[in-house]
Amino acid sequence: MEIQIQELSPKKALLKFSDTTATEVNAIRRSLVSNIPKMAIDDVEFHLGTVHDDESGRDYDLSTSIFDEAIALRMGLLPVPTKPKSFRFKDKCTCKGEGCEHCQVIYTLDKKGPCTVYSRDLVPLGDPELAIADPDVPIVTLGARQAILTYATAVMGTGRQHAKWQVVHAVGFTAQPKVTINKAAGCSDACLKKAGSICPTKVFKAGDGPLEVVKEDACILCKDCEKACSHGSIKIDSDPTTYLFTFETDGSMTAREALRLAFENLVAEIDDLRDAVVSLG
Ligand SMILES: [Zn+2]
Repeated sequence: MEIQIQELSPKKALLKFSDTTATEVNAIRRSLVSNIPKMAIDDVEFHLGTVHDDESGRDYDLSTSIFDEAIALRMGLLPVPTKPKSFRFKDKCTCKGEGCEHCQVIYTLDKKGPCTVYSRDLVPLGDPELAIADPDVPIVTLGARQAILTYATAVMGTGRQHAKWQVVHAVGFTAQPKVTINKAAGCSDACLKKAGSICPTKVFKAGDGPLEVVKEDACILCKDCEKACSHGSIKIDSDPTTYLFTFETDGSMTAREALRLAFENLVAEIDDLRDAVVSLG
């Protein structure tokens, strides 16, 4: 298998895998989705009753317009910055599951209305670098005299346990498209240009000259162009040994780090499988 990086930004990757099969590429996809360790808020403690604000002299009701469960769910989906080498799973930590700086991060949230509460309002106790990776996620809107006071605890998990521990989103792959133009008898430049203009991803360029393929990788194999030319001049095929693979992360770690962890995990799982088979004798 060969891997070519076509696009790599902190939160997004586009890769080309060649000399491989769909099964192998799918194993990488599954490892990315299910097996990468990530921190996510798993426990939220809501304070109830009223709070007094000395500055304004007002009392605030510790309740909001949406259920606490819904707020906790929204917090669970926030991207908590994760350095897998610095964190451990709680049940495998040296603190024996009691909770320490290596296996949990605690955030405080203390806001008074009227305002919209954002992810940036969650303040990590300790390292400020653990502030939520995307600061602009709205959590709840507070009315006048409403307030929220919570402690939220993030722990390590994997996408296999719950989607809140899933690092990657929009992960998918497609076989490498092969687009060929071979002008058949009876076909004309006008017919080809009309067929090319149908393409939703602008694979073709139809200037003054004949129709050309300019962005073959962008083809989504919809075959609309192939159907549009009744002479059969355009052929869309795919290469079953080469795949274009794309994914995004939620910001809890970089796309490069997520891919590295996915490969590490896949190698470990294959080793486990081999050991299990060998142990059968
Ligand atoms: Zn611990």
